[in-house]
Amino acid sequence: MNLFETGHARERGSIELICGSMFSGKTEELLRRLRRAKIAGLRVEIFKPSIDTRYDVEQVVSHDQNAIPSSPVSGSSSILLMASDVDVIGIDEAQFFDEGLISVVEQLADQGVRVIIAGLDMDFQRRPFGPMAELCCIADNVDKIHAICVECGSWANYSYRLVAGDQQVMLGEAQEYSPLCRKCYLNHQHTSHESKNL
Ligand code: ZN
Repeated sequence: MNLFETGHARERGSIELICGSMFSGKTEELLRRLRRAKIAGLRVEIFKPSIDTRYDVEQVVSHDQNAIPSSPVSGSSSILLMASDVDVIGIDEAQFFDEGLISVVEQLADQGVRVIIAGLDMDFQRRPFGPMAELCCIADNVDKIHAICVECGSWANYSYRLVAGDQQVMLGEAQEYSPLCRKCYLNHQHTSHESKNL
């Protein structure tokens, strides 16, 4: 049983991290935890980087009777300014935030806020993404969740990029990325290297 799911005193801050590849259900898990807090009468808010406009979190949650307000922010410092009078803060797509996010979430937790962060742990080249590695270290609780490999059905850890491009940030969905397990990721990498060298 997860310590942080058993009950949480308002005045006791904490940092929870939900990490994993694309299509692993990180946002769903974040929303599940936030909805439960909302039902308990806690004041809840979601922050996401304004870089990510693919979908509107507010719209996603507004189908629910317990809609959770969400605010796009341009940088981590805005979260501190906007997070007054909130008991539980959700931060989605944390990999796109600046390094300042680490001290922001630490300050919030020290002030008694329960902070729940969701983000991609690795980029398409399996490198730690943005502030995620350090967030992993400072979090009280870390959950690494998995997608399913589209090739073989095993657990997938990696977000394989299907289109060309070396830049770390390329927003995309199913057309641009596939969740793959280690074996299938390496197979694909090998094949794409071979085709480049032809
Ligand atoms: Zn596989």
